[in-house]
Amino acid sequence: MNSQLIENSIEVKILKLCNTTTTGCLVWNGHVRKGDGTALLKYKRKQIYVRLTLFNIRFPGFKAKRVYGNTCKNPKCVAPEHTIRKKPVKPLSEKLDNYQLYGPMDCHFPKNWNGKNKYHKIFHEGKRRYAHQARLIDAGIEITKGQEIDHICANKPCFRLEHLEVVTHQENMRRAKSMGLCTGSKTSGEKHGSTKWNNAQKVDARVLRAHGVPIRTIRSKYGISRSALQKLSRSDFENAIKFVRAKSVNIFLQATVSTGKGTWVEETFSTGALPLMIVKDKNGIRRYVKNLAGHHWKPLEESKLEWIKKIHKELKNRFSEHSEKTMEVKTWYS
Ligand SMILES: [Zn+2]
Ligand SMILES: [Zn+2]
Repeated sequence: MNSQLIENSIEVKILKLCNTTTTGCLVWNGHVRKGDGTALLKYKRKQIYVRLTLFNIRFPGFKAKRVYGNTCKNPKCVAPEHTIRKKPVKPLSEKLDNYQLYGPMDCHFPKNWNGKNKYHKIFHEGKRRYAHQARLIDAGIEITKGQEIDHICANKPCFRLEHLEVVTHQENMRRAKSMGLCTGSKTSGEKHGSTKWNNAQKVDARVLRAHGVPIRTIRSKYGISRSALQKLSRSDFENAIKFVRAKSVNIFLQATVSTGKGTWVEETFSTGALPLMIVKDKNGIRRYVKNLAGHHWKPLEESKLEWIKKIHKELKNRFSEHSEKTMEVKTWYS
């Protein structure tokens, strides 16, 4: 028997167990599955889905693997013209209302939560998105550029609307730090303030490794763990750390001190040429200098500030005998 004949015989068998109504429905009188009432038929020792089979026979060009109920809302109707071929899109709110309560603040956690403190993601309208973001969008709250969502419950998987607040990046980071959330390696990159070593130090370590310097030496130089060093190439890739170029920089400080008797003393200090490294990552370009305050590759602004403070202290000591002293300090680098 060829497939055409089999189809015909199935169709005949199905239609025998149906009556048509005036509205065009094909009401199934045969066996149904207990619970959801799906129309089923035993055919040659196999169980077949009546609605699906009938649909595929009637519309062979639109063969479906599954069908999703019918448009007439009659649970017993199996008419192919009433069958819904496409999976209906669940409204976003319905997906977000599928949660389990968690913790003392009654957080909304996904039902299939895997125990990790990670943001929950849902699939909606062909896109994978964060559940907490979707929750805000669903509530009509807009997130503009530069704004971030803060979890006031500090639980990342939570997507309860009452636990979410739209804040600026600075505010979000400040809160995270005050709650001690920035100590781990979860947030990556130098800008997030969690990393033990900066981009220039990473570049430096990479160069040292390439020159065959032992891991032990690099570890003791930067005070980092073995795994952090092993992860280096991967995190470089993630954060797109790029060495731009090396230069040298000279930082100057000019202090004008009034000795109080109408006389002025002017003095200029200079660091001398310091090695400078320019490194780029996803947050932009940054400059680092070497050995200004005894550190290995510190950000220029940071090192500069430390040095200026030191000079300032020295000058204050030196001119301490002048009671009405005033000091003006000018700094620049080239
Ligand atoms: Zn119908
Ligand atoms: Zn929560």
